[in-house]
Amino acid sequence: MKIYDISMTIHQKMQVYKNKAEKIPIIEVVSDFETGSSHETSLSMNLHTGTHMDFPLHMIIDGQTSDTLDLAKLIRPVKVLDLTHLIDGIGQKDLVEKGIQPNDFLLFKTRNSYEETFNFEFIYVKEDAAKYLSAQKIAGVGVDGLGVERDQKNHPTHKILFQHDITIIEGLRLKEVKEGTYFMYALPLKIVGSDALPLSVILTEA
Ligand SMILES: [Zn+2]
Repeated sequence: MKIYDISMTIHQKMQVYKNKAEKIPIIEVVSDFETGSSHETSLSMNLHTGTHMDFPLHMIIDGQTSDTLDLAKLIRPVKVLDLTHLIDGIGQKDLVEKGIQPNDFLLFKTRNSYEETFNFEFIYVKEDAAKYLSAQKIAGVGVDGLGVERDQKNHPTHKILFQHDITIIEGLRLKEVKEGTYFMYALPLKIVGSDALPLSVILTEA
């Protein structure tokens, strides 16, 4: 069985959203064999750094948090769509021919998956695409940028998807994965009351 790890590698030179210093993970050895009897490392990281899922609280006042986590939404079949030809963003017109069905969980493979430094012009999901996906009653969307949208006033893509209970995963790496159907294991850390959870995301051939 072929196994694809489509998570971002966490390290101190990894790309972070808009290259913001406060989003860079801090990985520190806090004990080694010169200072103690064991080797231990500490990690301090914004939960929107690397591969993660967003919860409504990220964009909506008093929105739902990670306390509503439902693993059935994360361990399931998914469809990878190849959108690597796009140069700006994903619009409704780019999706209408893709045969999208109710309850699909869609992973969008774009040129973002080939970029290891943050690109301020990263491919994102446009508002009209979010409306279309909601109307199609999909279950979830995964993107290979560090945001599902960029430079849209008041974050309509996030809000539309959240309002329709559509799961959002950000920061995937899909370079090695061809368009097709896979089984996804997206496994979060169990953190209470959060607006995001780090994910390890694995695909197997369905
Ligand atoms: Zn996020």
